[in-house]
Amino acid sequence: MIIFDDTIVSVFSDYGIMLPIAASRARKIADKLGSFTTSAPGHFPGSILDIKQTLSVLGKTGDVIKRSDIERVHSAAYVNALFSDNPDGLLKELLNAYELIGPDGKPNRYEPDKAVKPLPALFDKILAQCAGSYLACAAALVTERHFCYFLAGGNHHARYDTGAGFCLINEIIIAARKLQAEGGARIVWIIDVDAHKGCGSAELVSFMRSGVNPGPFEKNCDILTLSIHMARGWPLDAETLRNAAPGRAPLIPSDVEIPVDRGEEPFYISRLGDGLDRLEQLTPPGARPDIAIVVDGADPYEHDELSSSAPMRLSLEQCVERDMLVYDFLRSRKIPSAWIMAGGYGERAWEPPYHFLQTLARGS
Ligand SMILES: [Zn+2]
Repeated sequence: MIIFDDTIVSVFSDYGIMLPIAASRARKIADKLGSFTTSAPGHFPGSILDIKQTLSVLGKTGDVIKRSDIERVHSAAYVNALFSDNPDGLLKELLNAYELIGPDGKPNRYEPDKAVKPLPALFDKILAQCAGSYLACAAALVTERHFCYFLAGGNHHARYDTGAGFCLINEIIIAARKLQAEGGARIVWIIDVDAHKGCGSAELVSFMRSGVNPGPFEKNCDILTLSIHMARGWPLDAETLRNAAPGRAPLIPSDVEIPVDRGEEPFYISRLGDGLDRLEQLTPPGARPDIAIVVDGADPYEHDELSSSAPMRLSLEQCVERDMLVYDFLRSRKIPSAWIMAGGYGERAWEPPYHFLQTLARGS
């Protein structure tokens, strides 16, 4: 199934944030898929449900993501700042996570005069998207094809005690650990194919294993991470690496770390295939993942418009081949998968996820 909900899409310009993110991206994909499934009803990847309908299918009600779910992953001081009655704490963390103040102290891609909503109100959308990612996982575990694609979300850069790279909280790890806490999963794979390294996820898993993260960690549970990303693009650019603290993101490697340099796109698919094999080999003998969360960024696409994703230039065919490789790998092993749309900037960012889903529909 597919989760699409217009009400949780963040229109960043409403908050004065000037990023090249097309708010219409998810709507465009849903509309195009909708017309396809109408002409061929019942075809995989299945129904498109909004959050309310998804909750109903899963028999859940109310606020899905609670403060305790975030406390399981992020530091107490950071969560206190986000939920404080004093909005200045949240405002400061949002300005930092979305890089809205430059090194010179002046606004960066930020025009508060043009905002029609207060910046702290963005937190509600972020929590709703976090809920959507978790619900995609929950749906993948129980739906017939064990596949769910969430047309939003993907905040994978947020770290233990701070936001980063347009990510305030790390919804990927929050979803994984919530599933584990509820007994829905023990071993979780995270397969991150966004152009930017899944640096926050790697840090949080590292901290989890070393006992830094607060909250109980359930026995025999683990999260294994794979990230294939630009070798030198943010957060692995020279300046960010120079300022990075030892033992913190982005210096912490994922369990399977696959940097791809400029010009190495022809080797991308074979390296990803090798990486998936390594991920499987790292999984404890006799154990198998209960679910894979795929951070399915479209920003490696050659027509992506974010300057920081420019070092990676996959063609549309390569993007679809990438997704089909991951899909077939998981499907052949009967591993349920939740796909989170993640990065993708500019007017053509809808194309990779749409063509992947359309390929699945045609192949059913
Ligand atoms: Zn990205």
